[in-house]
Amino acid sequence: MRRKKSGASPKQLSLEEWENLCKRCGLCCFEKWVEEDGTIRPTDIPCRFLDIVTRECKVYHKRFEVDEGCVKLTPDVVETVQWLPPDCAYVKRIHGHR
Ligand code: SF4
Repeated sequence: MRRKKSGASPKQLSLEEWENLCKRCGLCCFEKWVEEDGTIRPTDIPCRFLDIVTRECKVYHKRFEVDEGCVKLTPDVVETVQWLPPDCAYVKRIHGHR
């Protein structure tokens, strides 16, 4: 099997390669508070489906069906949204590639 270079653009990665970037830290699965000026602040309130010990989603394979607020993190989404933590592996990959 031919492997892509580690410096490949995020959009060139296969779905599996993209999903393997995720560190499974669960930081994106906590509620956010939006200030009046638009500043987004993370809270310590987890999504009801996040196992806070293992940091795994309890309903991962059907998360979009059970929680309409769950967002599929594609390269385009990661590039656009402001609420992902700076330590998110996707954020680092996207910003590291600009
Ligand atoms: S914050 Fe990023 S690296 Fe952590 S679980 Fe969420 S998507 Fe994965």
